[in-house]
Amino acid sequence: MIDGPAYPGVFGPGTFPDGLFCRDAADSPGRDSLSIEEDESEKEEQKGLLCRRCHLLITSARERLEKDGSHLHTFFNPAGIVYEIGCFRNAPGCLPFGPSSTEFAWFSGYSWQVVYCRGCQQHLGWRFAGEDRFYGLIVNKLAEA
Ligand SMILES: [Zn+2]
Repeated sequence: MIDGPAYPGVFGPGTFPDGLFCRDAADSPGRDSLSIEEDESEKEEQKGLLCRRCHLLITSARERLEKDGSHLHTFFNPAGIVYEIGCFRNAPGCLPFGPSSTEFAWFSGYSWQVVYCRGCQQHLGWRFAGEDRFYGLIVNKLAEA
């Protein structure tokens, strides 16, 4: 409840919420359509990327990052398995695991560490550390929210 003393002499008790909403809309014609457009571009940026298996939120589209000129990279490991990974600044849904290594470094100057999904513990990608830190996540293990 909003009580009188917080807004002395401006709004009577009980009239504050409705009165304020009406005034806002009338004072700013066109405001509503504009803010809807902004909401949609923001929604695109904030689109969540989920673990495809357990649907835990892993990261979001706004965390996408370009490394060596590209967001997406295709690599294969020493066993010949091909991975398509996307680079992300941050991925709070990932849990780094095990020692970091510089063997078979995909990004020169970076060491890597395996990361798992915090929800279902499947392998989602790697965390790279060098002049900065970022995540390389296997794109077909993620789903858009
Ligand atoms: Zn998961």
